Amino acid sequence: CGIVGYIGPNQAAPVILEGLHTLEYRGYDSAGLGVLTARGPKVVRAVGRVRDLEEALPKRLSATVGIGHTRWATHGPATQENAHPHTDAEGRILLVHNGIIDNAAQLRAALTADGVTLQSDTDTEALAHLIARSSAKTLEDKVLETLGKVTGTYAIAVADAKQPDRVVVARQGSPLVLGVGDHEMFVASDATALVRHTSSVVHLDDGELAVVTADGFRTFTAESNDTGKQPQTVDLDAVQAQ
Ligand code: GLU
Repeated sequence: CGIVGYIGPNQAAPVILEGLHTLEYRGYDSAGLGVLTARGPKVVRAVGRVRDLEEALPKRLSATVGIGHTRWATHGPATQENAHPHTDAEGRILLVHNGIIDNAAQLRAALTADGVTLQSDTDTEALAHLIARSSAKTLEDKVLETLGKVTGTYAIAVADAKQPDRVVVARQGSPLVLGVGDHEMFVASDATALVRHTSSVVHLDDGELAVVTADGFRTFTAESNDTGKQPQTVDLDAVQAQ
C-alpha cells in the first residue's frame, strides 16, 4: 500500500527503508525492496513489518537505485512470494505496484499459454513479464506499451537491470509523487515520505507517467506526449498535519 523509490549518488536501501517506515501508517501485511547493484538486481521481501524486511537484508548491499513497497494484499495471501517487487523470468525487471489490475486473470492466462511460469498469485506480476517481453527499446516505452494492455488502478515504479540509470513510474487511480533533490530523485506514494529529503515535489496526475534519473525527470501521457510538469514547493505544515 506504499511505494518508495530512489536514484542518485547515495545508498538506496536506507532511503527506501526509511521511506517505507514513514508510509507504515497506510497499513500493510508485507514489505519488499529491490535494488540494482553492480552485480545485478537484488530483491528482498518479508511478510510482516518493515523491521522484518530490514532484518532480512544482507549486511552489504551497495546500490544507488532501487524501489520499495509495503503490500496490502488484494490478489493472493500475504506471503513472501506475493510480496513486491515482482520480476520477470530473467529477474531483469523489478516492479512494485499499488492498486488492482482488473484484467489480471486474462493477462496471467495469456502469459501462461505463452510458456511463462508465474511465481506468485498476484495481479501485479503479469506487468513485470509484459514489460520484459516488450520489444520497445527504452524502459519508459516498454512500460507505456504494457500499460496499454492493462485496465485497473495502479501506481507503479519500475527498474530495469539493463537500464540502471532510470526508474519509470506511472499513476492511474493510486497516488504517486516525485521528489526533486540535488542530483538525486525520490518517488513515493505521498509527500510525507519525501519531506526529510526535499521540499520540491511533483504530483503526478492520473494517466501520467514519468521517467526519473538522478539528474531530473520527464513527465508524459499514455500517448507519449510530454506534460512538462514543474516541481512545486511542498507546504511542510500541510503535509505533517496529514
Ligand atoms: N494488488 C496488488 C497485490 O495484491 C497490490 C496491493 C497493494 O496495493 O499493496 O499484490
